[in-house]
Amino acid sequence: MDLVTKKSSANVIVDRDKCIGCDICVQVCPMGILAMDEENKAYMKYDECWYCLPCEVDCPVDAIRVEIPYLVR
Ligand code: SF4
Ligand code: SF4
Repeated sequence: MDLVTKKSSANVIVDRDKCIGCDICVQVCPMGILAMDEENKAYMKYDECWYCLPCEVDCPVDAIRVEIPYLVR
């Protein structure tokens, strides 16, 4: 499994092996922090996640995992 976060502080983890490049997570993120990379895989572009979770819920192949920091739970 190839887990890529691009930034060490990122809490949105995209499983690149599962991602089918559907772009749904990019569209549902209210913060606009997700984007598609050159291989058409989603990644976290800005580290401003609100942990609202539609990206994780709406991903059709379950490729996104949002790790909510202990302090904001
Ligand atoms: S949890 Fe919310 S803010 Fe964070 S990446 Fe997903 S949709 Fe965007
Ligand atoms: S919703 Fe899931 S499959 Fe679609 S681009 Fe985002 S991570 Fe990839």
